[in-house]
Amino acid sequence: MSAIDGLLDLLYPRFCVGCSRGPLGPGRGWLCPRCQARIVPLGPEPCPRCAGRLGVAAAVSRCRDCRALRPVFSGAVAVGRYEGLLRDLVVRLKYGRDAFLGRVLGDLLADTVEIWPRAPEVDVVVPVPITAGRRWRRGFNQAELLAERVARRLRVPLALRLLRRRGRPPVQASLSRTARLSAQRGTVAVRDPGPRLAPLLRIPGARRLAPLLGGGGLPAERRAGRRTGRLEGKGILVVDDVMTTGATVAEAARVLVREGADPVLVAVAARA
Ligand SMILES: [Zn+2]
Ligand SMILES: [Zn+2]
Repeated sequence: MSAIDGLLDLLYPRFCVGCSRGPLGPGRGWLCPRCQARIVPLGPEPCPRCAGRLGVAAAVSRCRDCRALRPVFSGAVAVGRYEGLLRDLVVRLKYGRDAFLGRVLGDLLADTVEIWPRAPEVDVVVPVPITAGRRWRRGFNQAELLAERVARRLRVPLALRLLRRRGRPPVQASLSRTARLSAQRGTVAVRDPGPRLAPLLRIPGARRLAPLLGGGGLPAERRAGRRTGRLEGKGILVVDDVMTTGATVAEAARVLVREGADPVLVAVAARA
């Protein structure tokens, strides 16, 4: 702990975001040890592709969601299960509109992604978009808050507006499992601003400006707006707060791969 951190702790004591007890001891975290212990880990052997539960089908290497969805993302990581503390924090973030928890969850996710063996493959971080209506009602997109912290930690660009959400998301709870999976098709699109894609990228902390998309980094025929392969060979990390069936991130991955992204990876705060 630096002297500045010590001084800040003295001036602004931190209280646990899980239970409000405090003040917390030295360090940068926002959780007391008791609340940290309420994070339910993924378990010893989660599904290698989506971090889901392998369950009784553990003999096969794919979980139920992957067998149904056949997602094109090649790996996923999560802080833990959508239970206990993570569930509490996600609910308060989204439905209690407590945007500060986006930073808390984002830092927890960044801690996880940072030590993930696949992190070096990431060239750009992309949050899962929400519809404009939902964003207006909530005041923010929780996935963006998380993605911002992850991109900052990995020191890679954050593409806030690369993807957009179309139409009205289906009322998921009322649909059958199979219908829920196929209902996501066509709800996520890659924006097509031609040569103007570069301004959509924002570099958190501006540490490193990767020559990515548009502008000088691309061959002329692609700058001229060729529709395919705009993300050719770029490793993209799709970030969301929760993955339930994985249908939404699978749809985001599908449109990114269609544009040439390789690999597409997924990081979520909580995996159901
Ligand atoms: Zn606590
Ligand atoms: Zn899976």
